[in-house]
Amino acid sequence: MSGPAVAAGCQLPAGDLTIGDLPEGASAVDCDAIGRDVRAGGLELEIPEPGMRVMLEHVYPSGAVILEIAVDEEGIVSYETESMLDGAVEEDEASVSASASGPSECRQDNWNIRNERHNNRWTWYIGDGSYPAALGYSAFRQIAQQTIGRIKSAHNDCGFSDKISQLQTTFGGKTSYESDFKIENGVSKCASRDGRSTLDAGNLDKSGNPPLAAECTWTTNSGSRRDIVESDVRFNIRDFDFTTTPWNCSGKWDVRSVLMHEFGHSVGLGHVSESRYPRMTMSPGIAKCSGSARTLGKGDIHGLQLLYCLNQNCHRIS
Ligand SMILES: [Zn+2]
Repeated sequence: MSGPAVAAGCQLPAGDLTIGDLPEGASAVDCDAIGRDVRAGGLELEIPEPGMRVMLEHVYPSGAVILEIAVDEEGIVSYETESMLDGAVEEDEASVSASASGPSECRQDNWNIRNERHNNRWTWYIGDGSYPAALGYSAFRQIAQQTIGRIKSAHNDCGFSDKISQLQTTFGGKTSYESDFKIENGVSKCASRDGRSTLDAGNLDKSGNPPLAAECTWTTNSGSRRDIVESDVRFNIRDFDFTTTPWNCSGKWDVRSVLMHEFGHSVGLGHVSESRYPRMTMSPGIAKCSGSARTLGKGDIHGLQLLYCLNQNCHRIS
């Protein structure tokens, strides 16, 4: 007998797949599963093309869930799931004052990088719909630009001075494109990638437990190099109220803190433990009326330096 062998275990059921249906190490190509939906941990994602991986995060006040699906160039599938919803995130009004936001995040030196980076320029856009905190376009743009500026300058309250010298960014302007989310079965998931990294606000329905914000990031998955090629972020303004003044706030979430966390993922950072490092930008929970994630902690900067500070011009913190 000749011709391609059909791998055993490729009798995939109709409808959404589970990881058990197409386990890690199986060939998504041989099993004809590219573009099929996989459900895991309450999230759902399409299996990407060979040589790509896609990450979906839903972030909640109490933590975050992540599903990532990678397909290598040969078609072999792998998954990463993360559920950090048990971090007891208390309302933390004190943390927004400058005097209270410093010490612990400056001592805590824990990071987690996703081993992916922008090897090319990150050109990002803002959608042309509504914005959180009822901001107008120019005010929202200013906050987003400032947030990216804070990542590139490693802005912190700890007295660390450095630059994330190899992260190149360009603001592409306002776009009629939307961030690439779609809602199916009451769950928002990553839609097809439109090639434009877009930040916007809208609906992220999830029956009973909607996320505060969501992110889809696409990365190449070829050889050892991992290029982030697109990252879309959406604020859920249907179910949550946002503010730009968390020190004068009730039942709202800080726009800058949510954005700093999501853009942290957009440049390749992963999560650190909420219970152990609650003040770090990349701890997954975002407490209401807290601005503590607006600035980077020591661990956040360490992670960024490992990704973007690879030459002599970097003065790494220790
Ligand atoms: Zn996150």
